[in-house]
Amino acid sequence: MPELPEVETVKRAIGPLITGNQITHVFVGRKDLRWALPVCLESQLSKAICHAPYRRGKYILIPIGDEQTLLLHLGMSGSIRIYPNRPNLQKHDHFAIGFEGNGWLVFSDPRRFGYIDLFANSDITSHRLLKILGPEPLSEEFTPEYLSKKVEHKTCSIKSFLLDQTKVAGIGNIYASEALFKAGISPKRQAKTIKGKRAERLVPAIQVILKKAIEAGGTSLRDHIQPGGEIGYFVQSLQMYGRGGESCPNCSAAIRVLKQSGRTSFYCGICQR
Ligand SMILES: [Zn+2]
Repeated sequence: MPELPEVETVKRAIGPLITGNQITHVFVGRKDLRWALPVCLESQLSKAICHAPYRRGKYILIPIGDEQTLLLHLGMSGSIRIYPNRPNLQKHDHFAIGFEGNGWLVFSDPRRFGYIDLFANSDITSHRLLKILGPEPLSEEFTPEYLSKKVEHKTCSIKSFLLDQTKVAGIGNIYASEALFKAGISPKRQAKTIKGKRAERLVPAIQVILKKAIEAGGTSLRDHIQPGGEIGYFVQSLQMYGRGGESCPNCSAAIRVLKQSGRTSFYCGICQR
């Protein structure tokens, strides 16, 4: 599932194509993805000018004309491709926009957990998906003090806590595992114990991991718009995630695998306490 760095990479990749560009074609292949798509999506977008995209959590937001915002969420299996010319759409390409100058943006989602919405700019603070989001982990709001306060009385694991988008936005399974390893904190530890010193380790660990992943995405971007249009976000050099049974890069103990509320955690039983 794409997390903050991948969504940021996609946002950066589509910027040059769509910013200031007028929409000439709109294709809507289904009435729903995870939820029903807005009615009149086609007519609302047609002929409109797109402005610079931005990101909130795992959502890409594209201001459309003067009054509306298009929200794209990649869900579990969604991807966005861009083309210099009109592509032949494939089976799972559910939404596509053509621009003046022939560029196309295509939204593909085989499992259909993604989502597309269009809403008035004035509703941005009250939008049901956006209003519940916690702070951006790379913002000044996300500090050890903030984390210490939010974990108070929380008996869930710190891993589950980090995946809760209402506490901090954009972190998923991969970067939670990586950040907890970097901070030397066990994913099993109760969230309420991560205050003070541990919060002071975890917050910068999260920020370093995310920044490195964004940088890697950015540097790989130029070469990663494939002839097939894919924005190939760089497969990050992950130290823990997906490496169950391999050696911990720090102490060589076997990396452990643990199921936590249906999600897999990877951790070192020696380095993470
Ligand atoms: Zn270790």
